[in-house]
Order: sequence, then structure tokens, then C-alpha cells
Amino acid sequence: MSFKSLGLSDKLVQGILATGYTAPTAIQSQAIPTALQGRDIIGCAQTGTGKTAAFVLPILNRLAAHEAAGHASHGIKALVLTPTRELAQQVEESVKTYGRFMNLRTLAIYGGVGYGPQLQSLQRGVDFVVATPGRLIDLMNSRRIDLSKVEVLVLDEADRMMDMGFIPDVRRIVAQIPKERQTLMFSATMSREIRELTATIQRQPQLIEIGERRNPVATVTQHIFTVPREQKMDLLIHIVEEANLDCVLVFSRTKHGADRISQKLERRGIRSAALHSNRTQSQRQKALDGFKRGHYRVLVATDIAARGIDVEGISHVINFDTPVYAEDYIHRIGRTGRAMATGDAITFVSRDEEDHLRSIEKFIGKRLERKRHPTFMPTAPQPFHKPQQQQAHHPQPHAPKPAHHQPHPQHPPKHGPQALQQASHETRGPSPRPQQPAAHHPHPKPRPKLSFWQRRRQRGGNH
Ligand code: AMP
Repeated sequence: MSFKSLGLSDKLVQGILATGYTAPTAIQSQAIPTALQGRDIIGCAQTGTGKTAAFVLPILNRLAAHEAAGHASHGIKALVLTPTRELAQQVEESVKTYGRFMNLRTLAIYGGVGYGPQLQSLQRGVDFVVATPGRLIDLMNSRRIDLSKVEVLVLDEADRMMDMGFIPDVRRIVAQIPKERQTLMFSATMSREIRELTATIQRQPQLIEIGERRNPVATVTQHIFTVPREQKMDLLIHIVEEANLDCVLVFSRTKHGADRISQKLERRGIRSAALHSNRTQSQRQKALDGFKRGHYRVLVATDIAARGIDVEGISHVINFDTPVYAEDYIHRIGRTGRAMATGDAITFVSRDEEDHLRSIEKFIGKRLERKRHPTFMPTAPQPFHKPQQQQAHHPQPHAPKPAHHQPHPQHPPKHGPQALQQASHETRGPSPRPQQPAAHHPHPKPRPKLSFWQRRRQRGGNH
């Protein structure tokens, strides 16, 4: 099946092909023709299935038709609501990419940044807005945004918006949008609350389900490693260093934990950044951009912050803490194995986390084999906190380990089809990641800190 046969306009098909997509994914081939008829849709699809294009393309087709007919009216005609700023930015990026041959004005609206640029864009005129609910409500309250021309409303990751308590905000926003509209809703899970919401804001929606909702993406290999809690940090370092991984997403249950893990990796010479909601928007952006560019080999994130992260080429997702909620497990591991590429999802399970693992197994309906990591030898004492006494026996610091920059032969970069690689070059910078020159990843092994007396002994002086 081709994009053209789905009924999309020439300009749009041109934009899709230039992005590097050759054929629609399952959700796209089912949702696009239905959406083009103007029907409401409940799309039940996991992240990584291509759901963004499934709702963006029909909207752009509608806008292209207005443009072609020469009656493109002013005002916001499409509004997409997303739970996080990162997802809002990514969706807007996709809109610009697919609509690159159209005359389109887009805007991402989210909090944590100044109002100025967003207000200026609104004053100049915008066709397509992607927004998080909080900032949008602010703008509505101060009457600086007009939603009276909206023709299509999309709720993306509706289940997460619900988890984050955004549903009252969503209802207030919906109340400001014309009743005569098309409403598309996408959610990875379909709870009773989501069904209640759709009943009040949609009209005879068509349900489109892709894959089994509770099953992780088939291209992801799942590994469960049992490990005592106090050895998790060593195991993480071992895994990253052993295979010289350079695009790893680590999940921590807490913000504090994410900071701690990231700091310990950095101390070990593994470039890493933390992503969580206590960090400012610019810190979060810097962390995400640095990870996408390959400056950071590891991104350590909490569940909420990692929502919607779409970084191509994440080869490994590592759950440092076993997720408490089974849904989070699906979302977390869906960050790898995206769009047909393969990936590994590793979960560390300590004795006190066994219950969480059992509830994940119940949720996905499958037993996950627990193993010890085959090559991990827990070391005592900890490798990066050597007691002073030992240093006295080895006064010369160890020569730094040679930096590993070549991909491990057993772990070639895991990437999707050629088309995806090409797409990422055009839209998100080069992927697969460029080989980092040594200067970028010096991997400094921490030199043992020597006391004044030890340094003196090394110099061999008594003075
Ligand atoms: P999503 O589920 O929308 O987050 O998309 C996941 C990934 O799939 C993104 O990196 C998209 O660029 C990619 N993608 C979406 N549609 C296609 C397609 N038809 N062919 C290849 N890749 C796609």
C-alpha cells in the first residue's frame, strides 16, 4: 500500500517521501482513510507505531485542500493536546516535516518558557497548534488565543494526560472549541475513564486498535536481571562499558535517583545527563538535544519526563528500578525498537521489587525469565570508591582504560530501515550516531584522590 492510495494530496505525499517513509504503518493505513472522511477516531496504539503521522497527515490534507481551494481562512484550524512539552515539540516538528511543501504556520505551546515568542507567533497568525494543557489554559484565560476556528482536535497520549490529572483542563479547552469539529484521540491503554471521556467529546468514533495493547513492541527483546539493590550501579556501568553502548535510556523511579545515577556515570567517565521535572526547561532541552546529538551516551529519566521521547537509535532501555505500574513498563520499553528497528529492554530486579515484576507479568500475560547477568562479577569494594588504605599499596594511579569508541562487534548499531536513517538526517540530525572522536568521550577513569602524605611519598621527598 502507498501513501498516495490512502487519498493524501500530492504535496503531502511529496513531503512524506522526502521524510524517507516509503509505506504507511498499520495504524496509518487504518486511521488515515477514516480520518480523511471526517470521522472521529479512537486510536489505540502504542508509541512507536507511527501514530503521530496517522493523525497529522489527515489534518494536513484538510489544510492543503483549503489552500488549494483558495479559501484558507485565518485562525487556528488544528489543535493537538499532548501531556508533555517534549511531546508537544516533537509533534510540531513532525507537522513541519510532513508539511514542508505546504504554506503552513505551526506553533508549539508549552510552559516553563517565556510567553514572548509564543505570543508573537500567535499575533502573526498560526494554522496548527500543538500544546500542553496548562499553558494553553493560561493563554485562554488571558484571551490571548482564539480557538473558535478549530476544525480538528487531537488528544495525544490521552491515558497519560489522565494519569497526570489534565482531564479537567482538557474538558475546559474542549468547551472553547466549536462543537462542529473532528476529534481524534490516541491512547496506549483504553481504561473506563478514557471511554467516559470519549463518550462526552466524540461523535460515534471509530475504534482502531493496533497490535495487542498489552504487548510490548515485538522488536524489543526483554531481559530481566536479578541483582541486589546495592549492586545496581555497578551492573549498569558494566553493561554500558562491556558493550560500549552509546545510546542508552535509563529509567529511575525518582528524580533524586536519576540525578544520582547520572552523576555516578559521569564520575566513571560515561557522558550522561538527567531528565526530570525538577530541571528547568532549558536544562531538559539541553539534556535531550545532547543525547540526540550523541554528546551524552546515557540519558537517565523519570517516567513523566521521558513521555514521548522519540530518539532514533536508542539501542537499550534500562529500568534501573522495576516500574511499579505495569503500564509504565510498556511505555518505557517502547522507547527502543521504534519503527521496526530492534532494541533491548533490560530490567534490574532486586528482591524487594519481585512483586512489581509479577504484576508486569500479569499485565502482559507472559512470564519473563529472570537471570543473573552472565558476565557481571560484583566487586567489593566498589570500583569507584577505593578505600584509602588500598591506595597506599598502589600509589601509582592506574593508567586510564583506553576509550572505547568503536561499536562492540556483538552490538552493531541497531537502527531501522534505510528510509528511517535518511529521515533522521533530514529532520533530527544524523542517525546512526556519528562515531565520536576521542576528544568527545575522553572516558577519564577517576584518579584515586591521594592524601598530602601519599603525594609526598610519591615524590619521594621528606620536605
Ligand atoms: P510515533 O509512534 O508517531 O512516535 O512514530 C515512531 C517513529 O516511526 C518515528 O520516528 C517516525 O518518524 C517513524 N515513522 C512514522 N511513520 C513511518 C513510516 N510510515 N515509515 C517509517 N517510519 C515511520
